Amino acid sequence: MRTTLCWQLSNAVAIAMSSKLHLPMDQLSELLRPLLSGTVALSTEGPPRWSTFGAPQPNIVVDVTTEADVAKVVKYCSKNNIPFLAQNGGVGWAAFNLSNGVLINIAPLNEVAFSEDKTQAIVGGGASVKQTIDAAHAAGVLVVTGNCNCVGTIGAVLGGGYGNLIGEYGFGVDNVLSFNLVTARGELLNVSPTSHPDLFWAVRGAGPNFGIVTSAVMKAHPTSDRTAWNMALIFTPDKIKQVVQAVEDLRPQLLPAQNVFMYLTNSGPPDNQPVILVTGFLLQTTEEEARAAFSGVYAVGPLSENSGILPYDQWNTGGDAFCTREMRKPGHTIGISKLHPDQWQEIWDLYAEFRSKPGAENSVMIVEIYNLEKPRSIPESSSAFAHRDVNAQALVIPWYADPALDEEAMAFAKKVRGITGANEEKTTAYVNFAHGDEGLEAVYGESLPRLKDIKRQWDPKGRFNQWFPIK
Ligand SMILES: Cc1cc2nc3c(=O)[nH]c(=O)nc-3n(C[C@H](O)[C@H](O)[C@H](O)COP(=O)(O)OP(=O)(O)OC[C@H]3O[C@@H](n4cnc5c(N)ncnc54)[C@H](O)[C@@H]3O)c2cc1C
Repeated sequence: MRTTLCWQLSNAVAIAMSSKLHLPMDQLSELLRPLLSGTVALSTEGPPRWSTFGAPQPNIVVDVTTEADVAKVVKYCSKNNIPFLAQNGGVGWAAFNLSNGVLINIAPLNEVAFSEDKTQAIVGGGASVKQTIDAAHAAGVLVVTGNCNCVGTIGAVLGGGYGNLIGEYGFGVDNVLSFNLVTARGELLNVSPTSHPDLFWAVRGAGPNFGIVTSAVMKAHPTSDRTAWNMALIFTPDKIKQVVQAVEDLRPQLLPAQNVFMYLTNSGPPDNQPVILVTGFLLQTTEEEARAAFSGVYAVGPLSENSGILPYDQWNTGGDAFCTREMRKPGHTIGISKLHPDQWQEIWDLYAEFRSKPGAENSVMIVEIYNLEKPRSIPESSSAFAHRDVNAQALVIPWYADPALDEEAMAFAKKVRGITGANEEKTTAYVNFAHGDEGLEAVYGESLPRLKDIKRQWDPKGRFNQWFPIK
């Protein structure tokens, strides 16, 4: 039996490696199945992704149900030179280098539990932001996550982790106490400041290059008041420069847990008109205080408003439409130090022109601004996450169905990115928003040389090279 299995294995792998054809799914599945728990499902199609642009093209999908299964799949694939990639929330928008291999769907590892004193959250590597927030709300704590329900909690944290609570508690990476990590050799390690500290540093900022996090212990912040002001103001396009000025004026005055985002977006059905949307967030406040904190933006004169104090488990509801899966969404980004109102009529015109193309009306441009005082009080050298000095993230996301628009979409996104970043001394791109054409220095900043050293040690064969690979 053993001989037969080994023969099948080497035969399957030989076929896979010697040809550009797909891996022999039935044989490989047969070989993997006995290694894994009975609850593991093997299939040929993964869960739908947020963007179909540059999406991974696996021919085997393994829905893992235990961290031991993750280790076994990685060990097997590494040993046999079979490419593989972990997927959690499936919202990563940069192109993935996986056209023939195994997708390890870690979404079933979605348990979120808390220590008895509620100061620590144990977050499964597959938990979504919604699952994490729902569990945290029920436990009476706050946990730093991204702001959209569909995002993988750990996926966002591994790149840095922006979110509504960073002004109060620091970035996602600052809130991690330890990880369970499957390395390129298929070992399951506990990684913390005292156990493999080099990996602990690298994974917090460049995680997908070093392993698969099966769970993380994160700080939990017990509090009885888990409410926040969530503001949404719509402005007509003729107010573009005034809105930009108001948002820029607010930027240096943001209160600790206050943020402001500006969107060029779609008003939604039935009109589907291009509009400016300004959203705002302020933790643990009153309506009166919140309106005062955003008074400069209100003064521009919104066309309509939908705002209120919401409980923790509803903070992200307004962004659920942004989570809509499928369609092509080749996002681009650039870090900026400030907004320049003079640039924005041109940006608006380019945006309005692109979104008028068939099926492209949901295209969006976003500027995200947080109070960064608390995150900047934590030394940049404490993790591989670079660019704490960047004041705001500008994102442009062409959103359409027809691949025939790819070229125009790319030209539009690059042009807008270029205008927005025209006054910046250095190009920076937050890895979780980056496109992939920025260069590694722009993405990993001054962490790059040390990351390269750690990569050589822990992943010398580049098993985890599918997304912003460090080479
Ligand atoms: C609608 C939307 C909202 C967003 N909001 C925010 C936000 O508020 N804050 C923010 O910081 N970012 C945000 N992002 C960016 C998001 O953080 C990144 O796209 C992130 O990589 C997504 O992780 P994922 O697991 O959802 O996606 P996936 O596509 O499944 O994963 C992306 C990459 O991370 C790797 N990965 C995921 N989980 C693990 C794991 N457990 N261990 C090892 N590698 C893993 C994957 O292998 C892949 O390389 C948003 C993106 C979208 C589309």
